[in-house]
Amino acid sequence: MADMTDHHPAHRVAGIGPTIFATVTAEAVRTQAANLGQGFPDDDGPAEMLRIAADQITGGNNQYGPGPGEPALREAVARDRRDRWGQQVTADNVLITVGATEAIAASVLGLVDEGRQVVTLEPTYDAYTACIGLAGASVRPVRLQLEPDSTGVRRWSLDREAFATSVAEDATAAVLLNTPHNPTGTVLSRADLEFIADCVRGTGTVVISDEVYERLVFSESGGEHVPFATLPGMADQTVTISSASKNFNVTGWKTGWAIAAPDLLGPVTAAKQFLTYVGVTPLQPAVAWALDNADDWSDTWRETLRQRKHTLVGALEDAGMEVLGSDGTYYVITDIAPLGLTGVDGQPLSGEEFCRRLPGAVGVAGIPVTAFVTADAAADPTDPVHTLVRWTFCKNDTTLATAAGRLKDGVRERLSGRGCPGANRVH
Ligand code: PMP
Ligand code: GLN
Repeated sequence: MADMTDHHPAHRVAGIGPTIFATVTAEAVRTQAANLGQGFPDDDGPAEMLRIAADQITGGNNQYGPGPGEPALREAVARDRRDRWGQQVTADNVLITVGATEAIAASVLGLVDEGRQVVTLEPTYDAYTACIGLAGASVRPVRLQLEPDSTGVRRWSLDREAFATSVAEDATAAVLLNTPHNPTGTVLSRADLEFIADCVRGTGTVVISDEVYERLVFSESGGEHVPFATLPGMADQTVTISSASKNFNVTGWKTGWAIAAPDLLGPVTAAKQFLTYVGVTPLQPAVAWALDNADDWSDTWRETLRQRKHTLVGALEDAGMEVLGSDGTYYVITDIAPLGLTGVDGQPLSGEEFCRRLPGAVGVAGIPVTAFVTADAAADPTDPVHTLVRWTFCKNDTTLATAAGRLKDGVRERLSGRGCPGANRVH
């Protein structure tokens, strides 16, 4: 008989540790580093939205609400999608979830059978890989290509041939799209999205389109966000996902939504109701208010972020790194290879090792891009992601200025092979 204290993790979670975001934030807190790792803003969202939420709680709106979500929020989400993006949906197409994360999990659980595969764009947001694994399905990553544009800046783009091949495989049940894309900041062009639509049109393949960064596009070349469901024929084949987290600076509210035609939304709802039953009641009227009334706040926030991106990019370049092109989200990626650093093994320093040592040695935190690729790719020193690091510019001016000062102070010197992480840290 098994020892009663002998607990084994189920296969589906074996090997899953704390996420890279939790790990880096904990290290940033421990070392008092400027945290440019995890993507949560320092600035609060619209003041009136916060006030409404507080009033809802003290006013007694604290019990389970309707399964699909508060009608006022479902109406507001549908209205916003229609007015902002021309997506022809009504409240009946909207399910309120516990963050976009639950919408992703419920979509995969509700629409992808065990043993099937889900095509993702790699680098791939970590929750996709985990949710697909929890559903007993497998990930089929399609690597974005990293190539210089006409101005010599390296940027990511869709590898159409690899994508078409993966989607055509029998095992493919769904595509999990993300634009604007975390971690690369890529905003997929209308032409690329039309290509994707052509690949899936008329097949049983569902597109789960994560658009949480829909309002955060900073393209210099005029590129803009195109919601996948608005492409011809795609409304009936797409589950669109977004949330209040990145739209209104409330990552802690965990209030998101899935939008789809009834025959797709039904299975997503079936899974969602037994994950969390309903969304968080008192926050929903506040988010509804923001969707209807906070466009000015959003425009100001986007302009603030544009400035901050400029500040961060300058600081990263001054520190000696190559900054890759990013048109959306609040992330930029750098290649640390130009720093010429080496690890304890004498080999070029990996992004992972760099991010492990940076908080203690320099007082800044970032996320290694290897956290967003398969274990095999992450372990391959010849893979271009090996030396890439993601940074966020959603932090306040003080945090960014602190980070910029510390980075300028000599990343190269402080990390050059002395093997003693915090030794040269300046406070
Ligand atoms: N998708 C992407 C691409 C993200 O970066 C994040 C982090 N905000 C999420 C989903 C999760 O969003 P939420 O906080 O609403 O669960
Ligand atoms: N989406 C945020 C990021 O990419 C954080 C998400 C998380 O911590 N799970 O940084």
